[in-house]
Amino acid sequence: MTTNVSAYAAPAANAPLERTTVPRRAVGEHDVLIEIKFAGICHSDIHQARDGWGEGIFPMVPGHEIAGVVTEVGAGVTRFTAGDRVGVGCFVDSCRECEYCRQGLEQYCTQGMTGTYNALDRNGEPTYGGYSTHIVVDENYTVRIPDALALDEAAPLLCAGITLYSPLSHWKAGPGKNVAVVGLGGLGHMGVKIAHALGAEVTVLSQSLRKQEDGLKLGADHYYATSDPKTFEKLAGTFDLIISTVSAPLDFGAYLALLKTDGALVNVGAPEEPISLNLFSVIGGRKTLAGSMIGGIAETQEMLDFCAEHGLGAEIELIRADQINEAYERVLASDVRYRFVIDAASI
Ligand SMILES: [Zn+2]
Ligand SMILES: [Zn+2]
Repeated sequence: MTTNVSAYAAPAANAPLERTTVPRRAVGEHDVLIEIKFAGICHSDIHQARDGWGEGIFPMVPGHEIAGVVTEVGAGVTRFTAGDRVGVGCFVDSCRECEYCRQGLEQYCTQGMTGTYNALDRNGEPTYGGYSTHIVVDENYTVRIPDALALDEAAPLLCAGITLYSPLSHWKAGPGKNVAVVGLGGLGHMGVKIAHALGAEVTVLSQSLRKQEDGLKLGADHYYATSDPKTFEKLAGTFDLIISTVSAPLDFGAYLALLKTDGALVNVGAPEEPISLNLFSVIGGRKTLAGSMIGGIAETQEMLDFCAEHGLGAEIELIRADQINEAYERVLASDVRYRFVIDAASI
């Protein structure tokens, strides 16, 4: 039997979000019922609520940066009990059988992961995300939030944190490595914190020097404006790894020229239009142009444990649910330092 819970939803593409109720399934054998305490606002929430990627399922309850407390567990649940502090990120299920699911790379499931919202679950029912008071999730797609992390500052780690941690880990950012983060927003600010904690030398490449002071405080060693053409001359051949968090089209050739031999330029943001590239930019210097998408469940847990150990929460602005629409406008204007988090008590 389903239960209706309070939520904020976009009733149709481009319509402002408003308070409503949505059904949550009964707690199944392997499910946990989570009382949501905080939900982060990710840029992709706005894309989907405004149907920028097409084929949105409405009404839509966005939110895939969820932090809360378990209030009930199914009979077969072994990993959680009532009272546990937990998080849910960008997906709530996957096929569990393909080679990627078996390796803990559920985000690359060959049958497609089940998104936390704007998706149909394995029974064909729409999923509703974290802008809500409660959610029911399979324990295998739920992670533990260590006590050392405040729940509000932990929420954005479930998307922004893992999106940066996974490529930093995969491409081995650490001592002796020179890492650049392009863009200092919700994603980029976590990239700076995590890369610094991993021991890498960290540079922010931002359009302007407007947030330079913040960037250095967050852990960057250097900060350059990409609007200054001298930046590209000065930094040629500098980096082992560049992670681009921006969705504006970049001059990829110019950024690839900043890499050392064997360096990688990894995109976690993407422009909507295809890019064109002269392949000599990667042939000379055996360079890699790559992408990366969030992280698997085990790696998300590893990221949360790492962030707890190093005291890395997100920089947040806590808002009430009735400020979501205004917050969306501010995200689109890059006017947030660095993640809006909704206090679920106000939903
Ligand atoms: Zn996200
Ligand atoms: Zn799979």
